[in-house]
Amino acid sequence: MTLATDDFASGVLRIAIDAPLRHPFDYLAPAGLSPAAVPLGVRVRVPVGRRETIGMVVDRADQSEVSSAALKPVREVLDATPLIDGALMQLLRWTADYYHHPLGEVIAAALPRALRDGAPCAARIECWRATTTGIDALEAGALRRAPRQQALLARLAQSTRALTGADLSKALPGWRDAARVLTGRGWIERLELDASSPASSPAAGHEAGTATGAATSPPLSAAQSAAVGQIDASAGGYAAWVLQGATGSGKTEVYLQCAARTLARGGSVLVLVPEIGLTPQLVQRFRARLDVDIAVLHSALSDAGRLAAWRAAHTGQARVVLGTRSAVFAPLPRLGLIVVDEEHDSSYKQHDGGCRYSARDLALVRGQQGGVPVVLGSATPALETLHNLKAGRYRGLTLPRRDDQALAPRLALIDLSAHAVHRGLSTPVIDAMRRHLAASGQVLVFINRRGYAPTLLCTACGWIAPCHACDARMTVHRASGQLRCHHCGAAEALVERCLRCGCQVKPVGQGTERVEETLRELFPGEALIRLDRDSASRPEQLDAILERVLSGAARILVGTQMVTKGHHFPGVTLVAVLNADQGLFSTDFRAAERLAQTIVQVAGRAGRERNRGEVLIQTQYPQHPLLRSLLEGGYEGFAAEALVEREATRWPPFGRLAVLRASTRSSGGALAFLAAARQLAPVGGAVRLLGPVAAAMARRAERYHAQLLIESADRGPLHRFIGDWLPQVETLARAQRVRYALDVDPIDIQ
Ligand SMILES: [Zn+2]
Ligand SMILES: [Zn+2]
Repeated sequence: MTLATDDFASGVLRIAIDAPLRHPFDYLAPAGLSPAAVPLGVRVRVPVGRRETIGMVVDRADQSEVSSAALKPVREVLDATPLIDGALMQLLRWTADYYHHPLGEVIAAALPRALRDGAPCAARIECWRATTTGIDALEAGALRRAPRQQALLARLAQSTRALTGADLSKALPGWRDAARVLTGRGWIERLELDASSPASSPAAGHEAGTATGAATSPPLSAAQSAAVGQIDASAGGYAAWVLQGATGSGKTEVYLQCAARTLARGGSVLVLVPEIGLTPQLVQRFRARLDVDIAVLHSALSDAGRLAAWRAAHTGQARVVLGTRSAVFAPLPRLGLIVVDEEHDSSYKQHDGGCRYSARDLALVRGQQGGVPVVLGSATPALETLHNLKAGRYRGLTLPRRDDQALAPRLALIDLSAHAVHRGLSTPVIDAMRRHLAASGQVLVFINRRGYAPTLLCTACGWIAPCHACDARMTVHRASGQLRCHHCGAAEALVERCLRCGCQVKPVGQGTERVEETLRELFPGEALIRLDRDSASRPEQLDAILERVLSGAARILVGTQMVTKGHHFPGVTLVAVLNADQGLFSTDFRAAERLAQTIVQVAGRAGRERNRGEVLIQTQYPQHPLLRSLLEGGYEGFAAEALVEREATRWPPFGRLAVLRASTRSSGGALAFLAAARQLAPVGGAVRLLGPVAAAMARRAERYHAQLLIESADRGPLHRFIGDWLPQVETLARAQRVRYALDVDPIDIQ
């Protein structure tokens, strides 16, 4: 039966649900509401089968393809106003489309867990006030014999506003017992109010800075003020700026001044940093300089901390968001500037699980959609970025090394086959360390492998400690007495005897722990510190280590890639790269770029003032063209050559790439699935499929991995192809019980 008045209630709400399903679901508006009365971007509780879940209203429609009998109403609308505004929703939709990922999952990933679970969006705080009967009772002297209750009631009665629990705890410690009694009598009452004033907001994640007001800014160099001026002049519209400058050239100062100007105009600012670059030091620097609340978002936050930071951004209370990858989805009303520091860093790309987005690329999309300038900062911009710069899509700004570091460090290759090598350290490196330490310099020793040694070997029978879940060797971690797999995380006790023949085993090769041990023997008097993921797993530890290096307390720093992430060590005069050869012969077309970036970033830590920095790179292949181009032309020289090579081979940025990865428990299952997926693709057209091939490490974490590359000269055909093909692949994967993931613009195709 259809009623004539149905016009009012006709139409449906489209709800995105956190599930691997491509399309939003249609629901009726809750009883008594028209769909138009439910704002887009609010959360709703909806029935799904026999259970209930929380989804988000992403659209409305006049009609549904679902029969009206099967349509169910929304059970509850959770928010009065949108949690996600139109601009952010546009970014999330773009993300879902571009990465071919379900919108519901993309939205869920952009929200703190507590909000996904239905927590109220507005922060509620506990407040208390006296009732009129309570005030009467107080005046009648009813509480003369209960001084604590009297004090509490008097305090509440005198106040013109409700007092928070925190206020009361400060004024009347132990007040809660009295409150219980008074509440029971109806003389006072508890309220829950929206936290709208900054003073009452929760502290976690966005506590006020300890600095008193904004610290004064240092004078800018000519290049810095030119950069600030140009970026600032582009405010109010989209522009992509590439701010290229060596470590210590003052990029952060440019970000700070641009942020200050944006704030002064009433705008808000989003600053993205690599996971490892977000140190308490950096946060402190922003807080000290920008006299506003700053919300910090990173992966190590507690659920409560993340929610508090998100709310602070959402309400506009925190006008600066400083965060890692996922902060690109932070809610920021009146966004006026986006900064992506160390834009080449691979941690901006979501590597595993979920939607494999690039926060760097999405920052640019967000800037374009919102008409906001985006600053990409790096000493070693990604080749894609340099290509866009050359093509005129981005605008370039360069910060030269500052006057006090006018001389670029001297780079030299050390041929490992031509010199004596003691546990990974060649004689020229050891001699240079002696020289620099004697001249009061600090030394940075870089080795891109943590642990003690990458291999545990029995010399009697040739047994090598294997990971039982991967095609990999176990790494020796002597400090923790463990063998660990760096690919799947498996760990077992370190053994002294061969598991096959019982002979003594020995660690082979070098890791940071062992280099540290060797250097302690070679330089017994020198203070030494190690920086890797084992020694600095928490931001506080990282900060403490950096502090020891910056203060000069540590003279030798041994570290992995972590030393390259945004830290500047002005006292370091010598950098030794112990093994440059990983990456020279990789199957991944990006390996060379990553190696060049690492070497240049590590080298960038060296030298200042009159002490010209020295960088020694140990290699078995001193004639390798990559190392030669770096040595002779610096990063620019390398990049120019690498781009020519990419163009010749049609790799990105000259072609478009996606990869379909699959894994199964059975060997051969993933390859068979991908071969079948390939069969589903139409023959011919502008898209080429390459593979499938087994992954470079075929067996990992007890699963067999394989991949199929999808390549096209242009973005359009690639995405049209994937849009048609992926739903069929999904059906196939369900039938074959295969885990698979599509990665658009992959940065790692090993
Ligand atoms: Zn053995
Ligand atoms: Zn493993």
